[in-house]
Amino acid sequence: MADCIFCKIAAGEVPCKKIYEDEQMLAFHDINPQRPVHFLIIPKLHLATLYDVAPEHEALLGRLLIKAVSLARSEGLDDGFRTIVNTGRVGGQEVYHLHLHVLGGPEPVGPMV
Ligand code: 5GP
Ligand code: ZN
Repeated sequence: MADCIFCKIAAGEVPCKKIYEDEQMLAFHDINPQRPVHFLIIPKLHLATLYDVAPEHEALLGRLLIKAVSLARSEGLDDGFRTIVNTGRVGGQEVYHLHLHVLGGPEPVGPMV
């Protein structure tokens, strides 16, 4: 997608603080962290939102989630973390390329509101 910032990051056209990359996904630190550790995991495939996920993406989504756990551990989050996927306008999504937030730090966060 020509005008998608996360596609540009995935293509190496826009820099990021990369944590992990393979042929299917990329993980990088959020530019505006909301917690001491805050990174994003994206599929390289442009899927705008969770609404755009189809059964053929089942394995890809599973891999993203499993990778989130190992990266959380390697980023020092060994006492819990929060994962978020914002979807669409009402879900507060700002970047329309599917991404999984992983957030954590030494102190517990409050309940989801
Ligand atoms: P959303 O509300 O769409 O789930 O969150 C998008 C996230 O992407 C935000 O936390 C925002 O700080 C992050 N973000 C937006 N643009 C960039 C960018 O160019 N680089 C990085 N590393 N993060 C970005
Ligand atoms: Zn994209």
